[in-house]
Amino acid sequence: MTNNEQSDVLVVGGGMAGLAGALAMRSNGARVTLLEQAPEFGEVGAGLQLAPNATRILQRWGLLDKVIEVGVKPRNIVFRDAVTGEELTRQVLGGEFEERYGAPYVVVHRSDLHRVLLEACREAGVELINNVRVESVETVATAAGAAVGRVRSAGGEVYTADAVLAADGLKSALRAAVSTDTPIGSAYVAYRGTVPITKDTPAADLEDVIVYLGPDCHLVQYPLRKGELLNTVAVFKSPSFARGEEQYGGVDELEEAYRDCVPQVKAALANLGKNIRWPMYDREPITEWVNGRTVLIGDAAHPMLQYLAQGACQALEDAAVLEDITNARVFRGGDADDTAWDAALAEFAAARAPRTARVQRTARVWGESWHVSGVGQVLRNLLFKARRGSDFHYTDWLYGHGTESKAHRTESKAAA
Ligand SMILES: Cc1cc2nc3c(=O)[nH]c(=O)nc-3n(C[C@H](O)[C@H](O)[C@H](O)COP(=O)(O)OP(=O)(O)OC[C@H]3O[C@@H](n4cnc5c(N)ncnc54)[C@H](O)[C@@H]3O)c2cc1C
Repeated sequence: MTNNEQSDVLVVGGGMAGLAGALAMRSNGARVTLLEQAPEFGEVGAGLQLAPNATRILQRWGLLDKVIEVGVKPRNIVFRDAVTGEELTRQVLGGEFEERYGAPYVVVHRSDLHRVLLEACREAGVELINNVRVESVETVATAAGAAVGRVRSAGGEVYTADAVLAADGLKSALRAAVSTDTPIGSAYVAYRGTVPITKDTPAADLEDVIVYLGPDCHLVQYPLRKGELLNTVAVFKSPSFARGEEQYGGVDELEEAYRDCVPQVKAALANLGKNIRWPMYDREPITEWVNGRTVLIGDAAHPMLQYLAQGACQALEDAAVLEDITNARVFRGGDADDTAWDAALAEFAAARAPRTARVQRTARVWGESWHVSGVGQVLRNLLFKARRGSDFHYTDWLYGHGTESKAHRTESKAAA
């Protein structure tokens, strides 16, 4: 199929990336079918931070108000030393910050964001199909000689489309079309939980995202659902990972990991769900995201450690950039031949891969700086405390990316 609104797009995976990609393609006029392996759509886990590079996109899609309605706009991000409790630095999130980046910082329950995206897909007319586990994808020629992506499911079903968006997450089966690499364990494990905020919840910092930094561990807390829920994430380095144990990071290691932390951090461990743990993985950045008519998006393309809170934000960026590029190349005024999709997918990968590689690499280094001890901890604290509240140097490249804002001009200057 060529440059018209008859294009068919298949999306594999119904997480944040798949739903955002489906919505973006549908808004360009494509017929979109999304295949999800789970029997129902949904998200497991707790809160999600959405920085302005993501909320600008939700704003553009007319979804930001719906997300804010069920989320919270925190007042500050505050970093504290987990061992002394001392405040190290804070980023004020309203006022100048919001003005600079053109959209707010929002925290939302991931199931709420997922529902907003799912409803938007339904309303837009995306065909949503559950219980289909995709096993393989290839690009073949139709009888008329046009290239199409062909997907096969575990149940033997075959689907074809002009383009296939592989949004099947960290353990992506479709990534095999472009790379033989595997996820890399970081030795860190996360436990998460939400509890109702009651009159007995310690009042300190209930309007902020608080990050406590400790040796080989950190703990993040913020309110969700209009301040009804308190979200807690505890991440620590598992000793049993170093011993090569397969089931590393059990509950037995959790309390031990926080033994030197201040009482409010230790007390927060009670808020965690103990029956699911999330071992933290990423992958090395790759530049090849495209094979024929298949393109990777979201964690399938660029899984990252969560220290910058950017995995889902980058998935939204993927969708928005793909929307713009395919709109120009395929849907409106594109080349009137079968190569329009090929050119669009190549341009998309070339635009996105350097950006997401930088985020992946920075997330690793940022995490390392959080978990230091001894002299490293002293130096880290000095550096954090020396940062001025109005210093946007560390965030312009991330939150101002792709805008014509002052932040973007600063970013461009720094890159030059
Ligand atoms: C502890 C933690 C905290 C985080 N905090 C943040 C944060 O604050 N902000 C942020 O932006 N990001 C955060 N992230 C990252 C974010 O959660 C992920 O980057 C994001 O959810 C990835 O979305 P995705 O759709 O690419 O992948 P996934 O959410 O993994 O979705 C993939 C989907 O594909 C389906 N699927 C898989 N294989 C197949 C198949 N073969 N056939 C059909 N369907 C298939 C799966 O069932 C799933 O529904 C965090 C991650 C962790 C672990």
